[in-house]
Amino acid sequence: MEEKTVNCSFCGRTKQETDVLIAGTTGHICNLCISQAHEIISEEMEHKGRKDLVKELTLLKPIEIKEYLDGFVIGQDHAKKVLSVAVYNHYKRVLQESSKEQEVEIEKSNIMMVGKTGTGKTLLARSIAKMLNVPFTIVDATVLTEAGYVGEDVEGILSRLLQDCDFDVEMAERGIVFIDEIDKIARKSDNPSITRDVSGEGVQQAMLKLLEGTVVNVPPQGGRKHPDQKYIKINTKNILFVCGGAFDGIERHIRNRMNTNALGFGNATNQQIDDSNLLQYISPQDVKSFGIIPELIGRLPVVTHLDPLDKKALRNILTEPKNSIIKQYRKLFEIDDIVLKIDPEVFEFIVDRAEDFQLGARGLRSICEALMVDAMFELPSSNEKEFHLTLAYAKEMLSQKKLRKLRAVS
Ligand code: ADP
Repeated sequence: MEEKTVNCSFCGRTKQETDVLIAGTTGHICNLCISQAHEIISEEMEHKGRKDLVKELTLLKPIEIKEYLDGFVIGQDHAKKVLSVAVYNHYKRVLQESSKEQEVEIEKSNIMMVGKTGTGKTLLARSIAKMLNVPFTIVDATVLTEAGYVGEDVEGILSRLLQDCDFDVEMAERGIVFIDEIDKIARKSDNPSITRDVSGEGVQQAMLKLLEGTVVNVPPQGGRKHPDQKYIKINTKNILFVCGGAFDGIERHIRNRMNTNALGFGNATNQQIDDSNLLQYISPQDVKSFGIIPELIGRLPVVTHLDPLDKKALRNILTEPKNSIIKQYRKLFEIDDIVLKIDPEVFEFIVDRAEDFQLGARGLRSICEALMVDAMFELPSSNEKEFHLTLAYAKEMLSQKKLRKLRAVS
């Protein structure tokens, strides 16, 4: 009797052409079709998962957002609170928009963060993006200045965002862009030492549409080098822009404004001013006096400040955050089966040196690196099972000569 040929009901391959052919009630499926179907399902699920995540965003209330940030960022309570509310409202707006037409249109609330270098501006923005699982990218505003023709760079910002989510346009359109050093594109005309500067203002003008919401043609690779590539259209309406800057010298504007305002009201306000941290009184007006054009300020309605990091904050940053510097070093040694033991005085020593550098928390890492480098170089090849970091060793490692070198590098 002639044997009946069995085929895969999906691709038609015969039993001989496949490794495995599974029989169902009315048909068959081969191993190749199963693999292909699996891939399709995984992709679909991933896409759906991302969409569901965006939906879930509303479930996170501002207090929960802040609690999450507390795990990564030390101090900066005011900035955390303001950011939590802004992010919560932003995503509420995004979700409301995607559901149905609304009578009350909620406006976008991009954020401006003012604070000295190394106080956690980038870390805050990055942590929020991580928490929300949305694409995130950091751009340096000074790069926009250098290129001059800003249109190109603006597209570049978005192609980086696209890269962060594997070119999933829908995801990118809900991402977060952190524009660093926004103060460097301030108009300089207020500043007597620089006579003419139009570039900064030009860049600010070019950013207006982007921040407000516009459709941008983005070259996938972010450059003009591939003219044959198709452009990807990105709508920036729901992208959250967070701008950060140190705004060196803005205290002068804050003080001036406060002194002026205090006139005629007695000087009661004056007496309560905490002169050591004037940034806490920052208002959009000061940002304007610094040289940011009013139209741009209007598109960054949430203005918040970061406090300078005191000794206690620096000390906590070393060990408290979920991925603190010291935890990272412990992990690195642990991989080589080495226990890292640090005497408590060493922490104070590190903090004191970091204060000398005036680099905020950024100084902490370079100091730790200098303290650990020899041990990290030698111990993996030795039989040592412990690295005991004492104050004497730390002092020795940061001897004057080395310290000078470190300063030059940082
Ligand atoms: P900024 O953007 O304000 O210049 P960053 O956010 O890039 O500073 O901070 C530099 C590094 O210093 C971060 O990677 C982080 O390790 C650490 N850091 C700064 N501020 C804080 C903080 N408030 N809490 C925890 N770590 C911080």
